[in-house]
Amino acid sequence: MKTLKELEIWFVTGSQHLYGEATLKLVAQHSQEIAASLNVNSNISVTVKYQPTVKSPEEVYAICAAANAESKCIGIVAWMHTFSPAKMWIGGLKILRKPLLHLHTQYNRDIPWDKIDMDFMNLNQSAHGDREFGFIMTRMRLERKVVVGHWQDTSVAKQIDTWARAAAGWNDWQGARFVRFGDNMRYVAVTEGDKVEAEMKFGYSVNTHGVGDLVAIVNSIDDKAVGELVNTYETLYVVSADLKKGGKQHESLRIAARTELGLRKFLEQGNFKGFTDTFEDLHGLIQLPGIAAQRLMAEGYGFGAEGDWKTSALVRAMKVMAIGLPGGNSFMEDYTYHFEPGNEMVLGAHMLEICSSIAKGKPSCEIHPLGIGGKADPVRLVFNVGSGAALNASMIDMGNRFRLLVNEVEAKEPVAPLPNLPVARVLWKPLPDMKTGCAAWILAGGAHHTCYSQNLTAEHLQDFAEMAGIEYVGIDADTRLLSFKKELKWNEMSYLK
Ligand code: MN
Repeated sequence: MKTLKELEIWFVTGSQHLYGEATLKLVAQHSQEIAASLNVNSNISVTVKYQPTVKSPEEVYAICAAANAESKCIGIVAWMHTFSPAKMWIGGLKILRKPLLHLHTQYNRDIPWDKIDMDFMNLNQSAHGDREFGFIMTRMRLERKVVVGHWQDTSVAKQIDTWARAAAGWNDWQGARFVRFGDNMRYVAVTEGDKVEAEMKFGYSVNTHGVGDLVAIVNSIDDKAVGELVNTYETLYVVSADLKKGGKQHESLRIAARTELGLRKFLEQGNFKGFTDTFEDLHGLIQLPGIAAQRLMAEGYGFGAEGDWKTSALVRAMKVMAIGLPGGNSFMEDYTYHFEPGNEMVLGAHMLEICSSIAKGKPSCEIHPLGIGGKADPVRLVFNVGSGAALNASMIDMGNRFRLLVNEVEAKEPVAPLPNLPVARVLWKPLPDMKTGCAAWILAGGAHHTCYSQNLTAEHLQDFAEMAGIEYVGIDADTRLLSFKKELKWNEMSYLK
């Protein structure tokens, strides 16, 4: 998917027959105008599709059933221009399976002080009509996003887009397939999880294929395709002399290219949206996939190392949410710390697999030994990452629920060239500060693996967690450890069954 415009959010206005023809005609006109305006708003990345006003339980039910059935529809934006008695909505909301955004807006921005009369008051009733609608969703314990403000306000469009992007990620998970080559890294706890529960909760399936199935496809790739991909590497990256044609390790570059082509073919043939591998189970693969994982991620595939399927699926969803935005999203690991007083930082990296979508400048393509796994030296892309606001997101399995943990961070420019570090890397300062941010992350049980995002905000992920019906825990500039600990305790109570 190159653009989110092929996905639709449906603009549904609620009313009732009591108002009569003339008023309902105006309601429909206003709704069409708002939907059309949002549809062409450059801040909104999906298609906004007007739907006729719903005025009865039957019409509400029908639009919810139609939304469920339409694969292009990723959510409903509901607005009560006039008063829509909300018992009419119970039947429809009970069966609605798509996310809902409650747009609490009003057709007129300003009160017309000189002209206002009871006709105006009776038409522009969302101030109380939307309260009636809010009640029924709260009474039914339904998750939804509430956006407040005039529909021509840029901040309103941006918030709608944030929710729509989350809905696109959520939609992408439904029926998605992720493949694991090999199981979890031996004895590791946080990358484990309940795949049956994940499929019920998230809609995606995770299944294992023996790495031999992959090796067979890798070995079937013809030499011509390998040669072409090697040429592509030489165009896109600064390829080290040893790896170039005539260089003494050129064959290693060809092996890396063959691995990438085999992996891509495997993913395409199986209609997989992401994968995991593990250095402990690579029988028949000559190198641990490095550049292959980096480039496949850049194309939009999810990836998790060491069997980490939860992070692979999260990386994929976040890539879909971010389609069209500048910057990138990558598999990441908190690797090592800089504890200089007053300038504390985390150095994020992985053994190899950082997505080139977050690279600053032209990556270099290098080969170095890997001190783990006992395989041949793997080829990888090495690069730095730019500064600015970013975040790390981690999905963990708490046993009775999934928790999505997000830490907002401030990425920093590299402070030195790091000539001996042969992997892609990024430096960041966790918010609100190193001590609080790291302590909160550890208390919340956050993984060492994350999805690092340069272009999504905590709000995207909060909306996403609400759509999934899972716990969301955020660590940001306002986090204080005492209240954070209480939040974790209170959340524990709210998930007791
Ligand atoms: Mn790892």
